[in-house]
Amino acid sequence: MIEDRLHAELAEIADLGLTRRRRVLDTPCGRTATVDGKNALNFASNDYLGLAGNTELAAAMADGATTWGTGSGASHLVSGHLAPHEAIEQALARFTGFARCLTFSTGYLANLAVTPTFAGRGDAVFADKLNHASLIDAMQLAKANGAGVQRYPHNDMAALERQLAATTATNKLIVTDAVFSMDGDLAPLPLLLDLARRYDAWLVIDDAHGFGVLGPQGKGSLAHFNLSADARILLMGTLGKAAGVGGAFVAGSETAIEYLLQKGRSYIFTTAAPPAIASALLKSLQLIADGDSLRQRLFANIAQLREGVRSLPWPLLPSATAIQPLIIGDNSACVALSQGLWERCLWVPAIRPPTVPKGSARLRICVSAAHTSADIEQLITALGELA
Ligand SMILES: *Cc1c(COP(=O)(O)O)cnc(C)c1O
Repeated sequence: MIEDRLHAELAEIADLGLTRRRRVLDTPCGRTATVDGKNALNFASNDYLGLAGNTELAAAMADGATTWGTGSGASHLVSGHLAPHEAIEQALARFTGFARCLTFSTGYLANLAVTPTFAGRGDAVFADKLNHASLIDAMQLAKANGAGVQRYPHNDMAALERQLAATTATNKLIVTDAVFSMDGDLAPLPLLLDLARRYDAWLVIDDAHGFGVLGPQGKGSLAHFNLSADARILLMGTLGKAAGVGGAFVAGSETAIEYLLQKGRSYIFTTAAPPAIASALLKSLQLIADGDSLRQRLFANIAQLREGVRSLPWPLLPSATAIQPLIIGDNSACVALSQGLWERCLWVPAIRPPTVPKGSARLRICVSAAHTSADIEQLITALGELA
């Protein structure tokens, strides 16, 4: 039977207690989620500003669909690049301060386009060990194209500099998450940009969790560090997390983005996202720019959570972002804790290896502007009881 091997492997995954199951939500993404009739507070989504269920965004998407139809019909380079797509690219370029932007259907596809397009035979890629899976896959593609790839220990600038100094490659790419998705900590972008300048390298930044959240007007991690656009930066931002819609963008210099448009395979060989997505994103960008009160709410929630869990037996990683990981360590203890919270109508996912290093299973608490102070209190109280 051709499926025998798959059965055996699935059984192995089950034996290790690592089978993953999806929960079906009967409510839109938001502060709470209803699953099998149970209504739980949702600390599991990346909808940091609570925009995914925003009615103005839904209206913008509905209007977009009425005006522009549901499908784009083709890839951007063939005939699928409609006026809303063009408008959101320009709006994102203005918002981020970069010369030009391209939009992608997902962040995964955006990352898959960048590294292999900018690094091929004879080039060198330097990647943080804790980078997101999509950046790792992109790095593997660059490797298959003949690029040399090296990973440096998480945020270790001395190790990165040693690698940069030792390479003979002339075209170099430093690749990093801006906010690390399982730890919530920030990459030292000013130091990375300084290294990129000194060693004449590109700096590829994945701001999936910073865009909309950090910096003035939610402009992201670069703005958080008071850095502005730079011709050697390629900035990727996702639009399905804080922006509450879907898709992603890559921003850069005019030349870099033109090159990506001509050569990025996951840009070229895929149908453009539905134009209504772009219509909703135009509205979302306004809400993000005007969203200081949402970000104030979010950061008050983060501060309350951090203060409230200080006396618990588990350490919270030093994160100043919406991702607040509580390190449990043991896999089954972590799963049991997540289950205990679920029984108390609190949805906090347990993240285990291989997603995170062995022995560092964690509850990944995602805080949102949609949560109230009472919601955060409820989570703190439940964690205290379970401890
Ligand atoms: C979510 C995420 C992505 C992928 O973005 P999608 O739009 O969900 O495909 C890329 N990088 C990081 C760091 C992420 O957290």
